[in-house]
Amino acid sequence: MSLISASSLAGSLLRQEVLDLHAYHVPDSSGYVKLDAMENPYLVPPALRGEIAEAVAAAAINRYPDPGAASLKEKIRAATGLPQGMELLLGNGSDELIQLLAMALNKPGAVLLGVEPSFVMYRMIAAFTGMRYAGVPLAEDFSLDLAATLAAIRREQPALVFLAYPNNPTGNLFSADAVAQIIQSSPGLVVLDEAYYAFASDSFIPHLARYPNLLVMRTYSKLGMAGLRLGFLAGSAAWLEQLEKLRLPYNVGVLPQLVAEKLLQHHDVLLQQAEQIKRDRSKLYQQLGEMAAVKVYASEANFLLFRVANANEVFNGLKQRGVLIRNLNGGHPLLKDCLRVTVGTPDENARFIAALQETIIQSA
Ligand SMILES: *Cc1c(COP(=O)(O)O)cnc(C)c1O
Repeated sequence: MSLISASSLAGSLLRQEVLDLHAYHVPDSSGYVKLDAMENPYLVPPALRGEIAEAVAAAAINRYPDPGAASLKEKIRAATGLPQGMELLLGNGSDELIQLLAMALNKPGAVLLGVEPSFVMYRMIAAFTGMRYAGVPLAEDFSLDLAATLAAIRREQPALVFLAYPNNPTGNLFSADAVAQIIQSSPGLVVLDEAYYAFASDSFIPHLARYPNLLVMRTYSKLGMAGLRLGFLAGSAAWLEQLEKLRLPYNVGVLPQLVAEKLLQHHDVLLQQAEQIKRDRSKLYQQLGEMAAVKVYASEANFLLFRVANANEVFNGLKQRGVLIRNLNGGHPLLKDCLRVTVGTPDENARFIAALQETIIQSA
């Protein structure tokens, strides 16, 4: 019988980086108007759901999935308008692809560079994989600080740069010119994370062939498939054939492959939902803009970032009224008193606005 406790054993065996991590916190959202996670609030129409149900009933779940996912990749190619000669690598969500990239490029001393505030998984996955992380602050208005970013690239010589285009949690689309300069000045691989492409006015997919050090990453999570877990990297075969070696063979299951394929056959339905969300984003932006106690930021994503006098108070006030959004206060100095709300259904948005008005009046 060992006298050593599991916790002291874990404490002595685990890597220090793991012990130092804080687990990614997902709050319990049951019963709330859930506007905290950039989900599409809509299911697809019942007829299409019926078609999916039939396909699922007939699926060979006793077999391993097609490791190459050839049929799904064809649908993704068509839906994405992938340029000739460019290839795809599929991930169990794009989070998995961030991890795969970090594992692949993490030579001793290699640096992963990101801008801040941005998607927190870049920094977290650098820590998971033991890669050195360098963060460059954005400008006050959340645009790229190009001079500072180029200086950091010269100084750090990052093997891997992540830029979210549009950015999360700020919602803005960086200047395409500035992004192009960053790609051209980077000695390493630059990954443009286009998680919000369906809500944005620009993409680098058409320019993939122009830059030998560029990959574009997308996910279907924000377009109505968060529960399926499917993302992809797009770029040249020279990169993707190598990265493919690190992909676990069956990372995208039979059911996600099949359901995503069906949904992508009806890509227009999903894009119409995205158009609806964009219209509702405009309305929500205008309503927030009319509130004196709120400063709202322009967004090309399916969420809005806004600033109040006391974000913690407003966050709690909304929660007491049954509305769950994301409190970003404390996450980064530039996000002081900032909150992020996902665009929901018109009804959910109205409930959010009403709860926000009540909260602000009460705290004034
Ligand atoms: C949501 C999000 C992701 C992760 O998406 P999954 O495919 O669900 O893992 C990646 N990047 C950004 C910027 C995101 O906001």
